[in-house]
Amino acid sequence: MKSDIRVCSAWRERHDRPVYTLSVDCPDCGADAVNSAPAPFDPEDPYGEYRRSLKRRNR
Ligand SMILES: [Zn+2]
Repeated sequence: MKSDIRVCSAWRERHDRPVYTLSVDCPDCGADAVNSAPAPFDPEDPYGEYRRSLKRRNR
């Protein structure tokens, strides 16, 4: 059986962590959900800190 787990394509902007779903769009924000096969989550994301500070400033 083929696994069909998808992840919110906009989770980096809209969520604190990847939002996984079996649907074609994110149950949280409605953005497209993309196949998660090539792990989109990089814990060593060099831009993570930058993005987080941006987010903080925008609030
Ligand atoms: Zn989302």
